[in-house]
This record gives sequence, structure tokens and C-alpha cells, in this order.
Amino acid sequence: MKFTVTSRGDETSNALSQKIKTYLNEFNMTYDPDEPSMVISIGGDGTLLEAFHDYSHRLDQTAFVGVHTGHLGFYADWKPEEVEKLVIHIAKTPFKVVEYPLLEVIVRYYQQKTSKRYLALNESTVKSVEGSLVMDIEIKGDRFETFRGDGLCMSTPSGSTAYNKALGGAILHPSLASIQLSEMASINNRVYRTVGSPLVLPQHHTCMLKPQHHIDFRLTVDHHTFVERDVKSIQFRVAEENIRFARFRPFPFWKRVKESFIGDER
Ligand code: NAP
Ligand code: MN
Repeated sequence: MKFTVTSRGDETSNALSQKIKTYLNEFNMTYDPDEPSMVISIGGDGTLLEAFHDYSHRLDQTAFVGVHTGHLGFYADWKPEEVEKLVIHIAKTPFKVVEYPLLEVIVRYYQQKTSKRYLALNESTVKSVEGSLVMDIEIKGDRFETFRGDGLCMSTPSGSTAYNKALGGAILHPSLASIQLSEMASINNRVYRTVGSPLVLPQHHTCMLKPQHHIDFRLTVDHHTFVERDVKSIQFRVAEENIRFARFRPFPFWKRVKESFIGDER
């Protein structure tokens, strides 16, 4: 099997990454950063987000696994002291794959003929470049509301514990193929009105943002930021693709939520 290792770049993560490479070579596995069937990410959730974007063109042929060198992560759930165990697992045992849903973002423009397509593992946010964001929101082709405020966040289930959570969104189990729209400081008064609650959309329910006046936006896709100009619409839906994680032992999502946000048993 071909593998690669990505690192956050700090001394601890680099050393661990070197160690894993050496071990896996001893097990006759091939280091191949171009066409790996397994990507081992050492660092934090941010490191795994980067690894996802580096290999998002071959998701169907790649399984991810994360080792955390800081606090417990949502995507990086192996401890540094467990790498020997992990390496033996990778080399010797057939592993299970769990798939998590992703968000597809399509930006269309007035002048430019070609649209742009992005995939997000956590979320995509839309803010105005200047002033407040004003957007007509359509769901399944029907106008739902006009949003006016700081911004909008569309998250995946596995991203629901990240930015979405800070915006008061619900934590969704990654087995639910869905996306969640949450508001950033909407203006609500007698003139402007939005629903106020986060919305969870199932597969095939498209959410479309259409600008009212301004057509330049700040779009984020996970840790990346883009300034999008001359925008006609921004479309969100559950992507056809999934991210695949190699699972060598059970680590239920709710347990990860508890250990990250509530703490250990008293
Ligand atoms: P960062 O600023 O280092 O990340 C912010 C924190 O979010 C880090 O502690 C990161 O964990 C954690 N995180 C990432 N994905 C998560 C997930 N799915 N569930 C729970 N926590 C998660 O930047 P980054 O590491 O490049 O991550 C980018 C992400 O930051 C964005 O996708 C967005 O979700 C998040 N963000 C959050 C806010 C907010 O909460 N107000 C604002 C902007 C961006 P690690 O330390 O393990 O990397
Ligand atoms: Mn980070």
C-alpha cells in the first residue's frame, strides 16, 4: 500500500512523522505523496483539513487518519504514544472505512462564463467585503428570506463542532448526510426579518444565495479565504463525494464530543 504523512510542521509532529515513515517502510509500505491510498496527518484538526484539501482530487482512492500532537481533535483522534500500535494496524489489519459527508459550493458569476466549485470538510462562510451582507436565500428554488447581517455559515455534520457551534448551531452526527445554515448576527426589526434558527437541509435540497446589491464577497472554505467578485449566486448542497476515514477501533462521535467539550469522567 502507498501512503503519505503530513505534518503541522512543529518539531514534535515532524519527528513523529519521520518515525511513522520509517516504521511503515520496514513493513514494506511505499511512501508516495503523489498517489497515496492512505494519508496520515500529524498535528491537529487544522492539519487534517489541509491534508483533505491537498488530496481532495482523489477522495475515492484515499483514506485519512489523524494523530493529534496537541489536544484531542475531531479528525485527529490517535495519541502520539499510540503510533506503534497504529502502524501495526495499518500494516497488518484490513481496516474499516467510515465516510463523512462534505459540502459542495458552486459560485456563478455575471460576466465570467465558468463557475467555480469548492468542497468543504468543515464549512463555507460568506461575508461582505465591506458593510453588512445582504443576500436573498432560496431553498429548493423558492425564496425563503432576505438575510441582512454579518454573514452566513454553511457547515457539514463533522464541521458542526467547529465555527457552526460558535454560532449556536446544533451538533449533527456525521451519519446524517446534511448541511446546516447558521446566521452571524442577523439584523431583525420591523423591516428586516430572518428565521433566526439554524436550518438543517437534507441531501438534494439546494440552498442558493443571491446578492441584492453588492456583488463582491469574502468566501471561506475551511481554512481558505477567497474574494469573489461579480457574483451572481452561491450554491450549497451536500456533495456527491465523501471523505473516507480509516477506522481501526471504535471511537464514537458522541464520545469525541464529550471528551472535547465536557471533559473526562469525574
Ligand atoms: P484555527 O483558527 O487554528 O482553528 C480553530 C479551532 O477549531 C482549532 O482549535 C481547531 O483545532 C478547531 N477545529 C477545526 N475543525 C474542527 C472541527 N471539525 N470540530 C471542532 N473543532 C475544530 O484554524 P484551522 O485549524 O485552520 O481550522 C479552520 C477552522 O477554524 C474553520 O474550518 C472553522 O471551523 C474554524 N473557525 C472557527 C471560528 C469560531 O469558532 N468562531 C472562527 C473562524 C474559524 P486544531 O487546533 O486541532 O487545529
Ligand atoms: Mn489549527
